[in-house]
Amino acid sequence: MSSIFQILATKASGTSIPKLDVEIIPVFQNSAKKIHWPKGTMPEALKAAVDRNTFTGAAKELEWVQRSNGKGALYVGLGSPKGLTGDAYAFNEWIDQVRQSGAMVYLWQKRTRLAVSATQVKDWESSSHGSPVIDRVIRAFLEGMALTAYEFDRYKSKAPKKPILSMKLHLVGNLAHWAPVVKDLHDVTEAITVTREWSNEPSNIGTPEFFAKSAVVFAKKFGLRAKVLTEADAKREKMGLFLGVGQGSDRDNRLVVLEYLPKSKRKGKTVALVGKGVTFDSGGISIKPAGGMEHMKHDMTGAATMFGAILLASRRKVKNHIVAVLAFAENMPSGSAIQPGNILQSRSGKTVEIINTDAEGRLVLADAIDYVHKWKPDVIVDAATLTGACGIALGKQCSALISNDDEVSNQLQKIAFENWERLWRLPAFPEYLDDMKSTVADLKNANDSRMAGTITAAMFLKEFVKKGVPWAHLDIAYTAYDMAQVPYYPKSGASGANVRTLAQFAGEFGSG
Ligand SMILES: [Zn+2]
Repeated sequence: MSSIFQILATKASGTSIPKLDVEIIPVFQNSAKKIHWPKGTMPEALKAAVDRNTFTGAAKELEWVQRSNGKGALYVGLGSPKGLTGDAYAFNEWIDQVRQSGAMVYLWQKRTRLAVSATQVKDWESSSHGSPVIDRVIRAFLEGMALTAYEFDRYKSKAPKKPILSMKLHLVGNLAHWAPVVKDLHDVTEAITVTREWSNEPSNIGTPEFFAKSAVVFAKKFGLRAKVLTEADAKREKMGLFLGVGQGSDRDNRLVVLEYLPKSKRKGKTVALVGKGVTFDSGGISIKPAGGMEHMKHDMTGAATMFGAILLASRRKVKNHIVAVLAFAENMPSGSAIQPGNILQSRSGKTVEIINTDAEGRLVLADAIDYVHKWKPDVIVDAATLTGACGIALGKQCSALISNDDEVSNQLQKIAFENWERLWRLPAFPEYLDDMKSTVADLKNANDSRMAGTITAAMFLKEFVKKGVPWAHLDIAYTAYDMAQVPYYPKSGASGANVRTLAQFAGEFGSG
């Protein structure tokens, strides 16, 4: 997949930047939320906007000042910096305001179709904050623009008028400093685009076989090891839960294993990433209501997210060894589908009574989690669009995190807040498991009380994590798609959220 958005760092001296149609000028506020103007006289047109109070320098505000030749300056409000003296939450929150401001600039460019945008580092430095802060600010701003430049329109028979996607950023100054930042932004955009494309793929095309083939193609390109398990292979592995979910579908399951092996001799940790890949979730015999069922093509976003994460980590050449297991199945009602009351045997040997065939994600994940122990992981993280209860508990502002390990949980949360892909930890008290015990089998796949559904689903998964292995579960059911409230996510469809967090965690786990 080619990059849809280009950021160029070009070396240019302060006075002779070529073809500068739009100059982006950041504007900060002081602590009293008044415009902070450190650089001489304010241009007349901007001053007028400030006097009218239509431009205050608050985050996400834009003011376009055009010159007679059609070129001009786009003033971008970045708000009042927060948390510079150590309050990490406030700092990350402000940095995300900067990211959202970058998104507004991209949307503006899309509307105006002005060809070239540029920004100069010296303008950002003039805000008088220290340079590591400036790095984070510029990085977040560019990231906001890059994440916004995505549309899922491949299936329109007439191609919509495309915005001008080539944005040249003249990061004047030390090119050697900015080149890796720009490269990493490219890699981030690339990985998130793959995740979004996979998640948005309609299920008549995006079948388990389709994703398995696609994964192999990418693996070759990214230098990853790839292995695809067919249903016959899964049968040999005794993955009764995984196979049970797909048995009502005409489309066969696929389980994809991807492996990133670091080049460096120094031994890193082994990080296992497991993703739920239900390519369409009708609910099965416990069929879902019709309203909104089209969204169930996104029920493989856990797998798509883990895929994006391993791709990005491999681009970064991280030191850890990463294994991703993507478990694809389609959940359909038919004469051969599993039925409530059925008892299935998992790969681990534990038996499960099916109460609700729509609680299928945990079945797919349970066998995949059990299987990934083969690689003796130092940590297992799974991601899944798992429960409706997650939306009731947390809404769309964060994903749920449940873990058996404080250290893993803390590191994941810290990284998630840095990327503003917030994770909120829910408890894993052992008593919650009581609701998942069956009278006729070891476990049942749904609880009767409907209470704490996000936690009880995780408690079910925890039963397939071997003793002593740190594990974390991310329920991304309400952050995976339709995140219209955040300007750098598409208005509808896949968000690509959590790829940045999981890639960073996979790379950094165990180091420091
Ligand atoms: Zn379901």
